[in-house]
Amino acid sequence: MRNNNIQIVTEDLKNIWHPCTQMKDHETLPLIPIKRAKGVYLYDFNDKSYIDAISSWWVNIFGHVNEHISSKIKEQLDTLEHVLLAGFTHKPAVDLAEKIVNITPKGLDKVFFADNGSSAVEVALKMSFHYHKNRGESRPLFLSLTNSYHGETIGALSVGDVELYKETYEPLLISNIQTPVPKNQSRESAKEAIVELERILKERGSEISAFILEPLVQGAGYMHMYHPIYITLVKELCEKYGVHLIADEIMTGFGRTGTMFACEQAGVSPDFMTLSKGLTGGYLPLALTLTTQEVYSAFYCDYNEYKAFLHSHSYTGNPLACTSALATMELFEASDVLGENRKKSAYILKKLEKFKLLENVKEIRQTGMISAIELKGYTPQERIGLKVYEYGLEHGVLLRPLGHIIYFMPPYVITYEEIDKMIDTAYEAIVRL
Ligand SMILES: *Cc1c(COP(=O)(O)O)cnc(C)c1O
Repeated sequence: MRNNNIQIVTEDLKNIWHPCTQMKDHETLPLIPIKRAKGVYLYDFNDKSYIDAISSWWVNIFGHVNEHISSKIKEQLDTLEHVLLAGFTHKPAVDLAEKIVNITPKGLDKVFFADNGSSAVEVALKMSFHYHKNRGESRPLFLSLTNSYHGETIGALSVGDVELYKETYEPLLISNIQTPVPKNQSRESAKEAIVELERILKERGSEISAFILEPLVQGAGYMHMYHPIYITLVKELCEKYGVHLIADEIMTGFGRTGTMFACEQAGVSPDFMTLSKGLTGGYLPLALTLTTQEVYSAFYCDYNEYKAFLHSHSYTGNPLACTSALATMELFEASDVLGENRKKSAYILKKLEKFKLLENVKEIRQTGMISAIELKGYTPQERIGLKVYEYGLEHGVLLRPLGHIIYFMPPYVITYEEIDKMIDTAYEAIVRL
């Protein structure tokens, strides 16, 4: 059979430097060129299909080439493609901001637009620091959790804690301190972690602008999960020490953890919330930083007092991206997505039972539509994640393990049959290791 993938892959490697990749790997590991997609399926140039078990890096929630989202974007495309958001505005941005304010935790009333997750994090960090400065306080530090991930631009990288991404750039990073993430999903470990947080805040609280965390699940940090009570207690302590709480819901937002936003499970309204990824249904780059009237007010004054927040990106609030986000929110309104997801999560968890009997499985964990299998007994040099990845591709499932963690984060439209195929393939891959 003719292999139609080869030509495009050869052309690709002439010019493209891929993200998060040791390019030499592609001497032996072929790139997969995708020609088209539909629902949970990606199709390569040989028409071979792959179930997208990781929602194309956690962005796709209602399936690829979704009819509703596509048609709304097409309509917008012939109306207004882009206009700057400084001094100008447009309907998709206004409607989206209103909708987002209505569905996010109470108190988050102001929406700042950016075009990717890392930028939204940068905006939150800068705004928090600037807020304190506008009020006559200098707080040059940020606090974050061990094992955290907040993106890869210099500021976002600084508050993250995944060695693999961070180590090389250490001399370039901004001041940041870390407090231990709860060890597991138990209440006890949450309470233990709070003791250390309180010690840090007591000692250095007045130097810290904000505490940034990924609520409930640390995605890039190997799908590490912890109890909501931790966030509830964090919020109390942050208030006590005048430190902002930034909830980075870029991955956890829009139903991924079982509730629309992970913070809801802790009953917490943060001072800032960052959103991206699922926001546009996985169609177009867009990110939001939400904050409170209180923060907004600290910047609101006569021009000559020079307190304005002078941050911008060329594509800030792009109308096509906003339309895509609006269409995605409409899909949440049109049916009981979270209810259906609860049934699917329960089904997935039941299917994962049998993995516990395998010798090389250390732990199974789940929060909403994120499920992970932690393997044990391997060294990083063995690159077992890569072996599972290759096995998955061969058998029509895109799994992209994080080291020795195999995880499932499929689009919500996945069917029960497709769940069976996704999980059975992972099972076979693990058994064969
Ligand atoms: C992906 C991610 C980011 C960064 O978003 P990009 O759009 O990739 O820059 C930040 N925080 C969290 C929790 C993420 O998962």
